[in-house]
Amino acid sequence: MIAKNLPHKTVERLSQYRRSLLLILSNEKTHVFSHEIAQMLHITPVQVRRDLMLIGYSGNLRKGYDIKELIEMIGNIIDTEKGQKVAVIGLGNLGKAFISYFKGKRTKLTMVAAFDINPDKIDRIYDGVPCYHIDRISEIMKKENINIGIITVPADQAPGIAERLVLAGAKGILNYSPKPLNVSPYVYLEEYDMITSLEKVAFFAKKNDERSK
Ligand code: NAD
Repeated sequence: MIAKNLPHKTVERLSQYRRSLLLILSNEKTHVFSHEIAQMLHITPVQVRRDLMLIGYSGNLRKGYDIKELIEMIGNIIDTEKGQKVAVIGLGNLGKAFISYFKGKRTKLTMVAAFDINPDKIDRIYDGVPCYHIDRISEIMKKENINIGIITVPADQAPGIAERLVLAGAKGILNYSPKPLNVSPYVYLEEYDMITSLEKVAFFAKKNDERSK
């Protein structure tokens, strides 16, 4: 199957294409060219065409890609039919921000639980999401059929949380803590560090600064 062999970067860009397409979707605009998508995402039209060819989508040369059709096609690749359930572990600043930001954004991914150790947060509902004690992670994940976990606990707690997530049946983990993790090859792990993004921007800002002198 095409979808199984997609490069990780292509999957990342498909999500970005869908986000951009949803933004430009309007009654007046029904079609979009690869160069328009490329311009929005600061990549080349060749890259866009290559990614879309990988998912078996080719547009109309004269009219471009049908926006609605493409959004649906990307959805068929990225999402599952029934959708997937997500839990946040660590309902602090970042965990709460994630839940609020995510609310209502995607129909196929639902945030259904948060876990914490702080008694002030447990058995409360935050933005529609109930918070449970971390010791109930296995029980709740199995009961709610949660297969994705987002780690937003302090760094020293992250490896133990990753282990508990895997034992509870997680198939995907997004790690926001600065602690790099090791998990079974059957669990997809994505690690995101804001400082890395900022340092990348700072590096290119420095280069642009030097160029303009
Ligand atoms: P925070 O202190 O506000 O929140 C951490 C939460 O985790 C608290 O509610 C705490 O009670 C809970 N917690 C602690 N140990 C736990 C455990 N064993 N099980 C369950 N819950 C537990 O911290 P924050 O600012 O939200 O940051 C959270 C993590 O994200 C940190 O590791 C931080 O370094 C990282 N962070 C990452 C980025 C990024 O870009 N990746 C940005 C900011 C923060």
